[in-house]
Amino acid sequence: MYHSTPKQAESEWDVPLDVFRDQIRSLIDAGVRFIPFRDALDERYYGDETFVSVTFDDGHESNLDAFDVLASVGVEPTAFIIADWSRHGRSGYLSSQAISTAADRCAFGSHGASHTGLSDLAPGDLRDELIRSRAYLEELLQVRVTTISAPGGRLNRQVVAEAEACGFDVIGSSVELANGRPRNPLHRVAIRQVHDASHPARLATASRSYWLKRSVRRRAVGVATRILGEQGTEILRGRLGRR
Ligand SMILES: [Zn+2]
Repeated sequence: MYHSTPKQAESEWDVPLDVFRDQIRSLIDAGVRFIPFRDALDERYYGDETFVSVTFDDGHESNLDAFDVLASVGVEPTAFIIADWSRHGRSGYLSSQAISTAADRCAFGSHGASHTGLSDLAPGDLRDELIRSRAYLEELLQVRVTTISAPGGRLNRQVVAEAEACGFDVIGSSVELANGRPRNPLHRVAIRQVHDASHPARLATASRSYWLKRSVRRRAVGVATRILGEQGTEILRGRLGRR
């Protein structure tokens, strides 16, 4: 999961284009094969070999150069678009014209209509957000749009069920793990400015036990945060305060 890919990075979510190019090159050198995100629930990609999907969130204009890098090595990425930002021509984001032109080298999916956290919306608003975001791309591109990534990674079971009911077959989360089985929502790992040219290749060739450890650690942190949030913070505060 990438965000902006400008020539010069500014925010922590930016990956400079040169680094991006080297990251794709090192994935290829490591023998990694790529699949489009829309195919990422296909059972045949869940054997011993690891497959990688390249995705971009938010529809940054700077991604056009990254699409060219990928086209030159035969990799089809998926860019998740915020419908209202694109429709209204928000500066720095892909316009409807730019999306139409790039459709020969990039697949497009939804990233909501307004970039609101999907799990924060009331049921009626959620449905409207999903349908509106899909309609924008389908009218523009005249193809079926079946993929979505959740703004801010804000997802829950109800959102996944509603997205599937609205025609989104493949749903991306922001949980930074590998996918051991073909099930929505699919985990995605954010690549950020701190990551060097070999980082994605190291992840793509990491062992099952590496990902298992990451998964266990993630669950442990989740449990600790829940406990601290509800009771532990009070207890800790009380103990430390009385010293
Ligand atoms: Zn986003």
